[in-house]
Amino acid sequence: MTDARSAPPPVISMRNVSKHFDDFQALKDVSLDVAQGERVVVCGPSGSGKSTLIRCINRLESHEAGEIIVDGMTLSDSKDSLEKIRGSVGMVFQQFNLFPHLTVLENLTLGPRRVLGLSEEDAKARAMTYLERVQIPDQAAKFPRHLSGGQQQRVAIARSLCMEPRILLFDEPTSALDPEMIAEVLEVMVELAQSGMTMIVVTHEMGFARRVADKMVFMDKGEIVETGTPDQFFTAPKSQRCATFLEQIL
Ligand code: ADP
Ligand code: MG
Repeated sequence: MTDARSAPPPVISMRNVSKHFDDFQALKDVSLDVAQGERVVVCGPSGSGKSTLIRCINRLESHEAGEIIVDGMTLSDSKDSLEKIRGSVGMVFQQFNLFPHLTVLENLTLGPRRVLGLSEEDAKARAMTYLERVQIPDQAAKFPRHLSGGQQQRVAIARSLCMEPRILLFDEPTSALDPEMIAEVLEVMVELAQSGMTMIVVTHEMGFARRVADKMVFMDKGEIVETGTPDQFFTAPKSQRCATFLEQIL
């Protein structure tokens, strides 16, 4: 099982990735492998580079040094790679980012029709499948503003699923939600994790992390300071920085 020759290649591989914003180094020599079906939870203080890390994986940001290979594609500046990468990698944002002038159903059918070339009928059928999966098929005809925050985030997850990505990235998906709505979104994410989706989730919801994470990643000041299994991570963090962080949030 541990024979490197027979192990499947990682679906995401970051090697010594660095990224600056002007003079500020947001990522410092970051290396991370994610296997097919693996669930990775990333945590760390505000400004530590968590969003930058996952935004580099779907190329909302470009890295300047090191290598990122996603689903067999080496990320580069060509348009071709950008389109392919967005087909493989879905992203769910803190602020939902739904199109406010489109209904829920239209939000879900737009990508499959425009990007994947599905017929209206097929796109609608697919949209309803995923709205059922996030348990809000009854909201299809509404506009986002008429939904609760938790419902909007579930629509955003369904919209990502409609593109049938191989990898889903979540950037603090429950941070903008009222407390009573966090559970309904986490429940959908747990279900997704159990279905075998490869996921990287930036979150401070440590109950969620304990339930679904295969690997915990702690970032600070642009570096991956520590990775480990949830058991090891929560009971015996290796670094003082991580221990201090966990004390603050748990
Ligand atoms: P986190 O998600 O962990 O809070 P980010 O990845 O958003 O951290 O940001 C890491 C650092 O990079 C922060 O100091 C932030 O101010 C800086 N940064 C992020 N995006 C930009 C940008 N577009 N331009 C300049 N600085 C940025
Ligand atoms: Mg962030």
